[in-house]
Amino acid sequence: MLKLKDFPAAEIVIVGAGNAACCAAMAAKDAGANPVVLETAPKSERAGNTFFVAGSSRWVFNNAEELQEVLDLTEEEKEIVDFGTYTREDFLEDLGRTTNYRCDPDLAEVLVDGSRAALVWMKSKGVKFTPMYKGQSEKIGDRIVFYGGQVCMFWGGGAELSATLHKGLEEHQIPVLYNTTGLRLLTEAGKVSGIIAEQNGVERQIKAKAVVLASGGFQADPEMRARYLGPGYELAKIRGTQHNNGLGIKMALDIGGRAWGHWSGAHAVGWDLNAPPYGDRVVGDGFQKHSYPYSIMINADGKRFIDEGADFRHFTYAKYGHVVQQQPGMFAWQVFDDQMEHMLRDEYRIKQVTKVTADTIEELAEKLEGVNSKNFLETVAEYNKAVKTDVKFNATILDGRGTEGLALPKSNWAHTIEKPPFQAYAVTCGVTYTFGGVKIDTQARVEHRQGHPIPGLYAAGEMVGGLFYFNYPSGSGLVNGAVFGKLAGTEAGNYIKNIE
Ligand SMILES: Cc1cc2nc3c(=O)[nH]c(=O)nc-3n(C[C@H](O)[C@H](O)[C@H](O)COP(=O)(O)OP(=O)(O)OC[C@H]3O[C@@H](n4cnc5c(N)ncnc54)[C@H](O)[C@@H]3O)c2cc1C
Repeated sequence: MLKLKDFPAAEIVIVGAGNAACCAAMAAKDAGANPVVLETAPKSERAGNTFFVAGSSRWVFNNAEELQEVLDLTEEEKEIVDFGTYTREDFLEDLGRTTNYRCDPDLAEVLVDGSRAALVWMKSKGVKFTPMYKGQSEKIGDRIVFYGGQVCMFWGGGAELSATLHKGLEEHQIPVLYNTTGLRLLTEAGKVSGIIAEQNGVERQIKAKAVVLASGGFQADPEMRARYLGPGYELAKIRGTQHNNGLGIKMALDIGGRAWGHWSGAHAVGWDLNAPPYGDRVVGDGFQKHSYPYSIMINADGKRFIDEGADFRHFTYAKYGHVVQQQPGMFAWQVFDDQMEHMLRDEYRIKQVTKVTADTIEELAEKLEGVNSKNFLETVAEYNKAVKTDVKFNATILDGRGTEGLALPKSNWAHTIEKPPFQAYAVTCGVTYTFGGVKIDTQARVEHRQGHPIPGLYAAGEMVGGLFYFNYPSGSGLVNGAVFGKLAGTEAGNYIKNIE
């Protein structure tokens, strides 16, 4: 293991070793600099949330040629798959709509306009991509049709992506110091001049000309969750790494960095009620339960509490964890009947699942732990009467097969809950990452509270505020880290060439 004491100085220090950090480190090297990476986790837990991803990604392609800059397709795929297009306007509109039009327009343009180029660049570093059929496409006649604007994933998911990125660091001869936590930034005459880090309980300083912070959000820290996300959030589950405790954000704020974005907001999903407190590197994202648009979701009062089919899963899943968190007891059951069995994603079939089944709806009502069964049966009866069964079901469009006359409608993909066997899955709130962070400009420079960039300080990835508010279009996290990580590394590399 590399020792902190052997690195008294470096040209650029990168804090973190997830997607954004690895991209920053390789880009800095490409710009001619010699970066050093600090990773608070041991090697066995490296790469933060990036290790846990399914790998879905959203990026702009206007035609088949642009699609194939990232995706290598077989002749058959070219013939029978309808990938559609995903334009700049589509991505900007999805970002705007999901964030209630609060996302920073300048950063949004950098993200959207840099999205494909960043993935092509990652491909040049050995990262592989593949079409993402499951959950994003349906067979219609003899064609496979994609929907929701997302057609691609990082091949092999988070484990493969992390391994490839770290192999990239090795190939670029970039040292990674494990068990090494960035604690405080050093400044001289207003410029960043290094960092105090700790390894195995010993603090030392590394002098540096620039620092790139890419150390994730504050979701893993229960105290910060309760303080900023609100009461009860200290009890939420964390979907990924236990190591993103907000230290990078605090370091930047401590030297005058501006806090920015939606500090009381987080990406949060429906997550198995009995999942462990932090992510499990074997189960990965298997605790999520994302087929809810085809269910009814029931709270402890036996009532529905949200329009399960308001939009494609891609545009609702990241905010529905918060809605579950707000329910009595912080849990909900997703209820399906046999008609929707075929729509259940793979994550419903894992061993580590909180599930009950029954042959009658009355029997199911008794099995839904914590739920008022009388109200539940009334809810189902009322819902069944309201479903527009005359409208054709189609998962690839907002099909309008909703309910009529309910105070709380279901807008699409509604089915009566009547065909046994019945099954239900218990979920709670699983926080992916927090939306509040530091403000950066379009060169990934951290902004000072007084409005100027802090010389020598850059940030990227989850810890940047201002892009996501309330919600998030699926597949944007990795692309965000890639675009801004690459930018931060390049800018830091260029910056150090021009300072004394
Ligand atoms: C279960 C799950 C599934 C997901 N699925 C997807 C998906 O399919 N597609 C998608 O786009 N996004 C997905 N995401 C979101 C995605 O993981 C993140 O957006 C992205 O990985 C964040 O990258 P990052 O580099 O900013 O942070 P991370 O990958 O979390 O890296 C942060 C790094 O900083 C280190 N660190 C923290 N503090 C310090 C410190 N003080 N000193 C040194 N090191 C420190 C951490 O150990 C870690 O290595 C998912 C997330 C989870 C949890």
